[in-house]
Amino acid sequence: MPLSYSQLRTYLACPRQYEYQSIKKLPRGISTAESFGSSVHNCLKKFGEKEYSGQKSVVNDQVGMFDNNQPSTINLQLEDLIDLWKQSFIIDTYKSRVEADFHRQRGEEIMKKFFEWWKSENRQVMGVETSFKIDVGGIVVSGRIDRIEKGIKVIDFKTTPTRTQEEVDADLQLSIYAMAVKELFEEYPSELMMLYLNDDGVTEIRTERSESQLKDAVKQITSVSNYIKEGEFKPRPSVTACKRCPYKGVCDVAAV
Ligand code: SF4
Repeated sequence: MPLSYSQLRTYLACPRQYEYQSIKKLPRGISTAESFGSSVHNCLKKFGEKEYSGQKSVVNDQVGMFDNNQPSTINLQLEDLIDLWKQSFIIDTYKSRVEADFHRQRGEEIMKKFFEWWKSENRQVMGVETSFKIDVGGIVVSGRIDRIEKGIKVIDFKTTPTRTQEEVDADLQLSIYAMAVKELFEEYPSELMMLYLNDDGVTEIRTERSESQLKDAVKQITSVSNYIKEGEFKPRPSVTACKRCPYKGVCDVAAV
């Protein structure tokens, strides 16, 4: 059974949440935090595409990968990014115009910090929201990588609170991305990065993966896939999981 990274993450957070979402397919609302995260991702996807818009060298638009032989000829300015942010901002999930304006302004400040980060290095983007489907121990795992830069550097944008180095070192998502890059480019990335974009500013947390960590990731994915096949959906309530769960209103063991 194919699994997306997002499904794996949901199962690991709480098997019942996975059951509600992927087996019972219960309708769910979108929180303002998720909506804000989508707005940021949409904006940075468009920005990454603009980096290449000076050359008509998109090789495969479907998977979000570019011909990397020529650098972008476009001189992007902060105003371009702010315009993209205004176009990308999703307004629907906020309770009032005032609340939406607050978050749009908050996002604008974050974009200013992102722009400083972006121009601090000579970057060459190889892919934006690059989709993949890889075989992990006989299981098809799919996902999308936010940004790939020449090097090969993988960058995942996060709008959630910044995690610790230890947490990022153990992160399953980045292990999957390392395996996906090996499949796409026939070499492992030199660097994996979580780029946190939140009210603390822009924080890079870099990491890498060893062979043994990748083997552990394969074991973890295989074990989740087996539990799903066996119908193991015992709830795992915790304040951390339940507070972010879109089904806490219908779940009888919610911890919040
Ligand atoms: S409310 Fe908590 S226990 Fe219930 S499904 Fe969601 S995360 Fe799991």
